[in-house]
Amino acid sequence: MSEVRHNWTKEEILEIYNKPMMELLYDAATIHRKQHDPNVVQVSTLLSIKTGGCSEDCGYCPQAARYHTGVEGNDLMSVNQVKAQALRAKAGGSSRVCMGAAWRNVKDGPEFDQVLEMVRGINKLDMEVCCTLGMITENQAQRLAEAGLYAYNHNLDSSEEYYKEVISTRGYQDRLDTIDNVRKTNVTVCSGGIIGMGENVEDRAGMLVALSTLDPQPESTPINALVAVEGTPLEDEKPVEIWDMIRMVATTRIVLPETQVRLSAGRTQMSREGQAMCFFAGANSIFAGDKLLTTPNPDVNEDMKMFELLGMNPQKPFTKKVQPQTVEAIDSEFESLGEKPKWTRPEHKIDRNEAAKQKGKEQKV
Ligand code: SF4
Repeated sequence: MSEVRHNWTKEEILEIYNKPMMELLYDAATIHRKQHDPNVVQVSTLLSIKTGGCSEDCGYCPQAARYHTGVEGNDLMSVNQVKAQALRAKAGGSSRVCMGAAWRNVKDGPEFDQVLEMVRGINKLDMEVCCTLGMITENQAQRLAEAGLYAYNHNLDSSEEYYKEVISTRGYQDRLDTIDNVRKTNVTVCSGGIIGMGENVEDRAGMLVALSTLDPQPESTPINALVAVEGTPLEDEKPVEIWDMIRMVATTRIVLPETQVRLSAGRTQMSREGQAMCFFAGANSIFAGDKLLTTPNPDVNEDMKMFELLGMNPQKPFTKKVQPQTVEAIDSEFESLGEKPKWTRPEHKIDRNEAAKQKGKEQKV
């Protein structure tokens, strides 16, 4: 039961998701113990290196320029600022730094060169480096790999069907193509999604079909519970029930047995007991730090107290895969191609996104 399968069907996944809770927990915990040390948790720090002002219309995101959410936009951080934050994260027990930039896609040029320097700088601190920068081409993925990138995050967010109800400025296939580009390098893939966006259980299963049929499956999968931010199209969505989160984590563990399943956004809404149930169900990673890009997250000290209470230990960096080597810019094999890739711009509009955009416009006047 714990072998990796790439042919899961939605029906099979729904059957797992809807099992009686105790059976689901038992099955997930059994697989978890076969594949992972249940007392080890991987800790990542998410750092927003370029905040706000994004051109996309993701319905859950306060960083989209078109909504009025009060998020202040920042220019790209300097390499030294990022290295200082990485050192702080390391001292706080993180083995990985994930750098997020509010971009639709990576553009070749000085800003991307600066990100490559950040990757080099953090890898030299002996920490795993992850980036989430939007869509990337194969050449950009190669350049990140050469700089020493350990993981690239690109979430599928939801099922292909429900994706169209949340985002209209790019297509699902763009996501898959970016993941494919990352797979052409030795960088690991981090891809997951969000629950609580108004999707149904079939959509949650659909997302897990999409993730589990990737070959290889992602090395890490964040499961986010929506943090409904005022001004975004999803501002009125109700908080995710802890039982939904536990079911989603357990089902993810069963269909992605080798993957690190990460508790991501929404942990401030979860009790310690709820989080402990998620760890039992197969979660073995968290995002640490008092902010997740722009939304609140539990304090690092609180997390460390929780681990102590549960007898869990933070995972050391490069436990799952050896540290990539950093090639300096001057020795690079891959030059900037100055590409202008044509990522999709779907035709459809989403009513609630349009309404939030209109409201944002009125409030800015
Ligand atoms: S999720 Fe990313 S791409 Fe979407 S609006 Fe936010 S920053 Fe932009």
